[in-house]
Amino acid sequence: MCQHEPICPPAEAIDREAARALVSHPEQGWSLLCNGVIIFEDTGELLPDGTCIEPHRGPARHARGRNPAPNAPQLGAGPHALAA
Ligand SMILES: [Zn+2]
Repeated sequence: MCQHEPICPPAEAIDREAARALVSHPEQGWSLLCNGVIIFEDTGELLPDGTCIEPHRGPARHARGRNPAPNAPQLGAGPHALAA
């Protein structure tokens, strides 16, 4: 069990990745956290109950091309527009 202070978040917690690493194998690309979670370098995770968490690194979604029109910057003009 966790003997850290403060106590590491449990494997069920949304911030489970904040637990301390007990074993780290960067050359193999994984670490065992204090709460029993194995975290991989691609941000995938394996929970103690066998649940797999898909990698969730970075900005994976691309908004480009989904906005209907690129001509909307007037909305964010702000106080500078009044000063002119
Ligand atoms: Zn701990």
